[in-house]
Amino acid sequence: MIVANWKMHFDYKKALEVGCAIKSKLSDAKAEIAVCAPFVYLKDLSECFKNSNIKLGAQNLYFEDEGAYTGEVSAMMLKSVGCQIVIVGHSERRQLFGEDDNMINKKIKSAIKHNITPILCVGESLSQRQNNETFTIIENQLAKDLLDIKETVIIAYEPIWAIGSGKVANSEQIFEVHEFIKKFIDTKVLYGGSVNAQNAGELSKIQNVDGFLVGGASLDAQKFYEIALNF
Ligand code: PGA
Repeated sequence: MIVANWKMHFDYKKALEVGCAIKSKLSDAKAEIAVCAPFVYLKDLSECFKNSNIKLGAQNLYFEDEGAYTGEVSAMMLKSVGCQIVIVGHSERRQLFGEDDNMINKKIKSAIKHNITPILCVGESLSQRQNNETFTIIENQLAKDLLDIKETVIIAYEPIWAIGSGKVANSEQIFEVHEFIKKFIDTKVLYGGSVNAQNAGELSKIQNVDGFLVGGASLDAQKFYEIALNF
């Protein structure tokens, strides 16, 4: 499974241009492909992805269905525009927007209630890795974020120090964390953090890597296509 995380990039015209280019290049891809776009582009992208196997994803949600929550967007709303996937608990949301594990847990439950598959992001910071806290941190995130959840949740292992930094985790680091996650929960585990067309082939050889969550390199349809091709 190869998932694009566009983050807060593109104006409307460019988003549709890149989204539609991804669709035409990857309609027949063997891997499952998803594009997680900013909220305002979802409806039109869903038209563009119609009759293709490209899944439509969001990058966040709020856990209530409706109410006085100025500025928020719910799973119910996402579902109504054709969203099938949602990223939850990305490190940028945890760090920049103060999302804690309790909120992430509620968001995952809300996505599941509306039949949207959550992709839960977990991962350690550089100092946590240097202090040998990686497994404790990840176990803690999984335990709290998945509390009382039995349904399918996809996990993305994203070491914070590898995101947007050009520093990819090495094969052994990825293998052992993915193994640890799979012991905790039997599910698909994606790797994210500086994945590009050059390293995708090597990364996909790691036995327990089920796909990638791609930020920077997903902003270019050709690069994203090459990643999917190399998986
Ligand atoms: P990156 O981002 O591919 O630009 O490192 C990955 C992510 O944050 O999901």
